[in-house]
Amino acid sequence: QRGVVIVGAGMAGVQTAVALREQGFTGPVTLLGAEPHQPYDRPPLSKAVLLGKAEDSAFDVDFEGLDIDLRLGVEVTGLRAAVHELDTEAGPVPYGILVLATGAQPLTLPGTEGVPGVHLLRTLDDAARLRPVLAASPRAVVVGAGWIGAEFATAAREAGCEVTVVEAADRVLAGALPAEVAEPMARWYQEAGAELITGAKVAGIEEGRVLLADGRTLPAGAVVVGIGARPATGWLDGSGVERGPDGSVTADAYLRTSLPGVYAVGDCASFPSGRYGTRLLVHHWDNALQGPRTVAANILAGEPAQVYDPVPYFWSEQFGRFVQYAGHHGGADTLLLRGDPAGPAWSACWLRDGALVAVLVVGRPRDMAQGRRLIEAAVPLDPAKVSDPEVPLKSA
Ligand code: FAD
Repeated sequence: QRGVVIVGAGMAGVQTAVALREQGFTGPVTLLGAEPHQPYDRPPLSKAVLLGKAEDSAFDVDFEGLDIDLRLGVEVTGLRAAVHELDTEAGPVPYGILVLATGAQPLTLPGTEGVPGVHLLRTLDDAARLRPVLAASPRAVVVGAGWIGAEFATAAREAGCEVTVVEAADRVLAGALPAEVAEPMARWYQEAGAELITGAKVAGIEEGRVLLADGRTLPAGAVVVGIGARPATGWLDGSGVERGPDGSVTADAYLRTSLPGVYAVGDCASFPSGRYGTRLLVHHWDNALQGPRTVAANILAGEPAQVYDPVPYFWSEQFGRFVQYAGHHGGADTLLLRGDPAGPAWSACWLRDGALVAVLVVGRPRDMAQGRRLIEAAVPLDPAKVSDPEVPLKSA
């Protein structure tokens, strides 16, 4: 068996190595990771790890026992496919089969890099830097009211900080959710005592303050920028691996890249969704768990055997709520609400041609369990029953 080399030792890279062994791959497996730390899970970084409730979030994987050659602190800088080699500072690394799992990197606000007190939240090092900052309860400004911004604001409130969240769009989660669903979530900020300023652009950040384009100045002992992430694929320039305008490696339905013997998975890769009829770039944990199983199955089969066509899933913990989402919706899908979004438990359902394509759930775990199955089944539902929170979703 040709050896497999995996670039990126995050969730997707680690899970690929583990899945290869679980599925019976006996050849060499090498896992290269740029970060010096034992591979770790990211979701706790904006939750327990940030608040010091957990020391770290290292994966419970016995790399040695699984005969996985884990090499940490190794940044891969180039791919020379013609000779089947990767470039690293420590010299070239040959591969038989290659898996790209380099994840994503957070976007920065141009001109604010290196300003003292400005933070990102992607890595364990980021969280470790932020932890003592939070412990001192500074006045915190969060740029971006997305998933990460909301989770950081939650932690900062819990740490006793005064918090202001600045969002350029006219609402929270503008890239992910329509106004009907996002509006009630904006109220959670107020309830938690965090100030939310929407429709406001940041013009600059200086030490100790954030300047808005409308002339306002916000004092800030700490600033966290959470304005999204982009696939970490710059190192593939000149490699011949095809990428899309969003920077993602454009994998096919088997998670193969445009180069033979090279796969891509996790936050760095997009894939064509047969289910939704569009290419998806998913930046969530479950995708970095499921995708690797398909990659491993196809590597073991030695031919395109398993199609990757998941119902995407993610969760977020914000302001004391557990928010879950499954599926994928577009602007043209019909939105139906189940329950009062001002209350503690409600769901949002999206229908396309009468069938459920996505569901967002707050405090109604049964809707999530049943919704996921209904999305898989793709059967037409009765919109009146879907809108009735008293009717179980599975009976709609
Ligand atoms: P990554 O986790 O980014 O791992 C990629 C790894 O590759 C990194 O360690 C990186 O250093 C390494 N790498 C990059 N370039 C190179 C190179 N050239 N050479 C060698 N190594 C390289 N998702 C949810 O569904 N729910 C949540 O609640 C949630 N919370 C989150 C909270 C935070 C703070 C963050 C940052 C993310 C959260 N996510 C959540 C998203 C989830 O963590 C990601 O989708 C997941 O980590 C993706 O895994 P990955 O392996 O594809 O990428």
